[in-house]
Amino acid sequence: MDLEKLEEILKDEPKFRLQQAKQAIFKNLIGNWQEAISLPQALREKLNQECPLEIKAEVLSAQDRQSQKAVVTLADGFLIETVLMRHKDGRATVCVSSQVGCPVGCLFCLTGKLGFKRNLTSMEIVEQVLLWARMLNKDGDRVSNIVFMGMGEPLLNYENVMEAVKILNSKSGLNIGIRHISISTVGITEGIKKLAAETIRPNLALSLHATNDQLRNKMIPLAENYSLADLTRALDYYIKKTKQRVMFEYLMLKDYNDSEGQAGELARFVAQFQRPSGFPKGRNFYFVNLIAYNPTAEQQSYGFSASLPERIQKFKAILKEAGIEVVQRYKFGRDIKGACGQLAGKNISNKL
Ligand code: SAH
Ligand code: SF4
Repeated sequence: MDLEKLEEILKDEPKFRLQQAKQAIFKNLIGNWQEAISLPQALREKLNQECPLEIKAEVLSAQDRQSQKAVVTLADGFLIETVLMRHKDGRATVCVSSQVGCPVGCLFCLTGKLGFKRNLTSMEIVEQVLLWARMLNKDGDRVSNIVFMGMGEPLLNYENVMEAVKILNSKSGLNIGIRHISISTVGITEGIKKLAAETIRPNLALSLHATNDQLRNKMIPLAENYSLADLTRALDYYIKKTKQRVMFEYLMLKDYNDSEGQAGELARFVAQFQRPSGFPKGRNFYFVNLIAYNPTAEQQSYGFSASLPERIQKFKAILKEAGIEVVQRYKFGRDIKGACGQLAGKNISNKL
């Protein structure tokens, strides 16, 4: 679906038609223009021909039924993935992709293995959310949160990602609160600084994974261009300017980045950020998310495996002792490779 095309088709119609059409897409969550009963029949047929609403996707459910993954076929045949995670408290989080493949090439990430194919358009991003919103709507539910943690590096597709965020957040779009939308980045410093200046600004999560350049560059090849010192400066600027909480993501890899010494290093790294003036007392302006590694056969050939639970507990205890807030999130759908960043299984790479 292409909103510009929609505007073009409706340009000779009365102004309210565009409003009605957008209402049908984003509020009534229709999948076919025939369902847009506020529009004249001839126009519905024309729109079905020239601006179809169909989203080509195959949906898979995890055994726990809490998460579902969809493989979406784009107009040019590329495949991307999106995940829906349903929480016990009724929230529903959608994890979206921002690129086909990824140019960063992290050794532990399946998407990184694919290489980079192209950026997604803003509507290709929005459609991933629409797909789940349509499905949830049938049960009277809605999408409550969005995380840019699927395939691709969102800050390397900055304009389209921000355009998508605006549509998702807008009252005439999906009306999802901006504090319920999060972007995860591997640390593209120019993007972090740009984001700090936005008026409509989603939450920021930083994939840290290592607290010394040598190890980080090994895991994240593109990090060569973004040293931890540069990253620290960019984040410091972001925190001071926005006074918003930042999440540090740390993938727990057995005997690789999970030692007690590394926990201490991580505590020192995050504690170096200064509390922004005016930030509410008693509330942490950053926190650490320890991510359980979801292993695949290919990545095991790099010698990666998931940290043992006892090790994660010890790591967590060291951080907590240093006064750092720690969470462990997103452990959904291991059987469908539904954990965020775990998208793009072998089936996908074969079809690219
Ligand atoms: N490119 C962005 C967003 C997509 S990846 C980024 O890297 O932040 C989202 C998260 O999934 C990242 O923190 C990434 O490190 C993590 N991830 C990648 N591969 C994973 C795996 N095999 N198991 C668990 N998490 C993984
Ligand atoms: Fe790209 Fe993120 Fe995967 Fe790294 S972890 S290759 S940045 S999608």
